[in-house]
Amino acid sequence: MGERKGTNKYYPPDYDPSKGGLNKWQGTHALRERARKIHLGVIIIRFEMPYNIWCEGCNNHIGMGVRYNAEKKKVGMYYTTPIYEFKMKCHLCENHFIIKTDPAVLEDKKIGGIQQKMNRLCQKQRKFKKNFMMIPCLN
Ligand SMILES: [Zn+2]
Repeated sequence: MGERKGTNKYYPPDYDPSKGGLNKWQGTHALRERARKIHLGVIIIRFEMPYNIWCEGCNNHIGMGVRYNAEKKKVGMYYTTPIYEFKMKCHLCENHFIIKTDPAVLEDKKIGGIQQKMNRLCQKQRKFKKNFMMIPCLN
């Protein structure tokens, strides 16, 4: 929806190209409503759940691949790789999830407000990931 208005070819009769692009002229951002929190460093993206989780608010299972409108924010750097945080609201209750990229640990993710289902490597097994098959963590 955002792109529809961003790529509009209509130029108003009073438009002056010397003062910048169309978005600047109209006082809008190219991402439109997805950039409504841009002053806070937040853009809104479509986030797809990368694994099965349990919501800590309502204890419901949320399957891998469920999509949310998430607030994406840069929260730090790991060497030259940015660390992003995604915040989204559970579609079944008022709980919010926070998922953060973790480039230091093989692109794994740190999470808040949810419990991950037991299909990720535990710390001990992760060390041997390169040499061994992935085994579900049971604790
Ligand atoms: Zn929930």
